[in-house]
Amino acid sequence: MSLSRRDFLAASAVTLGAFAGHPFRLLAQAAQQPVFTPVRRNVGTFTMRGGTVGWLVNPRGVAVVDTQFPAEARALLAGLQERSRNRGVDVLLNTHHHGDHTGGNGVFRGVARRVVAHGMADQHMRRGPRPPQPSQPPQQPQQPPLEPPRSQEPPVEALYPDTTFTHSWSTEVGDERIVARHHGRGHTSGDAVITFERANVVHMGDLAFHRRHPVVDRAAGASMRNWARQLQQVVNSHTRDTIYIFGHAREGLPVTGNSAELLQFRDYLQAVLAFVERHVAAGRSRDEILAMRAPLPGFEAWGPFGQPGARDPISVAYEEVTTGA
Ligand SMILES: [Zn+2]
Repeated sequence: MSLSRRDFLAASAVTLGAFAGHPFRLLAQAAQQPVFTPVRRNVGTFTMRGGTVGWLVNPRGVAVVDTQFPAEARALLAGLQERSRNRGVDVLLNTHHHGDHTGGNGVFRGVARRVVAHGMADQHMRRGPRPPQPSQPPQQPQQPPLEPPRSQEPPVEALYPDTTFTHSWSTEVGDERIVARHHGRGHTSGDAVITFERANVVHMGDLAFHRRHPVVDRAAGASMRNWARQLQQVVNSHTRDTIYIFGHAREGLPVTGNSAELLQFRDYLQAVLAFVERHVAAGRSRDEILAMRAPLPGFEAWGPFGQPGARDPISVAYEEVTTGA
């Protein structure tokens, strides 16, 4: 007797916890191991679950960009302490307020000497003990949705920024200079682009999704049109050699890349807007347009769009196109 693959997967899902040695369980665990990856000149990435973390550990200081969730932040902090011989963290920067980037901030209480974010990110963070998650996370075949917090996670007291900025903010950490810049509305209204100048590495936060449909938080002030514009500004203000850290990547793709990937994502955002504009001009109804879920012509590698929802690119593009804002 053999189970169909679907039955087998369903049975596996139900009994997953009961079989510690089960290959699917191993696979699930493997996907959530903490991974520290050096990028260049004392700067690296940390991946586990949630938005990609950036870090700097040099002989004179430690900096961290974003914190994922509490359990992940503990693994992050342990790895940073090991690499820096327990020197603490000079500065924690948040790229924006979303829970998969700031949920672990509280783990850095008493460890991070400063917490820095854009003023709007700070406001969004303080709206609740845990930033709201999308009621309908994007359902994207062949790639997991952006992870919500685990419900069984022990709560950790939120840690908010003590330093905010409007246009830019900078500091020296050892022999590295870190600059945070805000280019206006994008993924939210409070995004920061964090440049490690001497390493020439830039953390984009969720202004960069590598070949996957982005979350667009219009309720928190997102603008796809300005997002596309600012990707060009970011590329213009760095060099050909700059390495960019992406907030999220399609499963199996790297979380770092160069300006070609950023400009490709800019093209994607503009293509979604142009696609919706064309259908609005052709007199299609809101429901007809929102129902269009096939891959975007020219961007088939992104796969079909997920379900319509408040933070889905087609829905937000429709709002932008029809309201002009
Ligand atoms: Zn985000």
